[in-house]
Amino acid sequence: MPRITSHGRQGQVDATVVPRYSGAATFARLPRIDEVSDVDLAVMGVPFDSGVSYRPGARFGPTHIRESSRLLRPYNPALDVEPFGSQQVADAGDLAVNPFDLGVAVDQIHDGARSLLERARRLVSIGGDHTIALPLLRAVHAVHGPVAVVHFDAHLDTWDTYFGADYTHGTPFRRASEEGLIDQSGCLHVGTRGPLYTSRDLLEDTELGFQVVHARDIDGIAITGVIERIQERVEQRPLYVSIDIDVLDPAFAPGTGTPEAGGLSSRELLAVVRSLASLDVVGADVVEVAPVYDHAEITGIAASHVVYELISAMSPDDGQQPT
Ligand code: MN
Ligand code: MN
Repeated sequence: MPRITSHGRQGQVDATVVPRYSGAATFARLPRIDEVSDVDLAVMGVPFDSGVSYRPGARFGPTHIRESSRLLRPYNPALDVEPFGSQQVADAGDLAVNPFDLGVAVDQIHDGARSLLERARRLVSIGGDHTIALPLLRAVHAVHGPVAVVHFDAHLDTWDTYFGADYTHGTPFRRASEEGLIDQSGCLHVGTRGPLYTSRDLLEDTELGFQVVHARDIDGIAITGVIERIQERVEQRPLYVSIDIDVLDPAFAPGTGTPEAGGLSSRELLAVVRSLASLDVVGADVVEVAPVYDHAEITGIAASHVVYELISAMSPDDGQQPT
């Protein structure tokens, strides 16, 4: 396949020669990891949704996001970067994850991420339900120590257990805090909204190390205010970014498992993700895309652009030196 190359790096299949709708749907039509000798950033699929509490289907998220990423182009004018030219990005395919045993699945995701991090400096994972953030944080912690976390989500995901289970898509950030994986002075949720079980949910969340930028706060402080809150909280700590696509309003992301009204627009989320370019993003995930509830790839396109902006923000062209 004829590819765009830049600075000796293998980029996307050239869409001026091979139509975008043909060929294999790797993320953004990038090379597979076995097609490149060195890789700076790997996109890894984690098709797993056995941790969901409501609608299933996020196991098909990685395939859907890749299919919805065919239209992405090599130059990002908003950040003035070539995200696939300034670093070697490759698609690492999907992890094989046990759908019947949560404990085994969590270990498999951790092991898969650890072994990939021996080849690639950074990972962007596409899920999969939010359970996967815990083993991904364990893998990132093994390399970087406790990290700041910016968690975009309608939900806190710091609940304790569901049906007695420790590992679910509603509990990863409580487990991560308990295990010391996160820097409790540098974490916050963005886009939280909707009903909770009790007012204690927010108190316990604070004790676990999180600040909250509620979706309703955006009415007052606007997106520039959200960006300031993140910058003030994270500072120069190594940062892990976890994006539950349900942070978007269901109008912008209907294809997800636990939708809540009153969320962010795609434009708002993309602006906030772009602002992370000035921070030291060491890893990221985009989760909870469930294509069976999607229409016209609305959610898939939003998610693929979020991944694109994450990769752009992690690009060395953004003024940050790679770590
Ligand atoms: Mn959520
Ligand atoms: Mn979540």
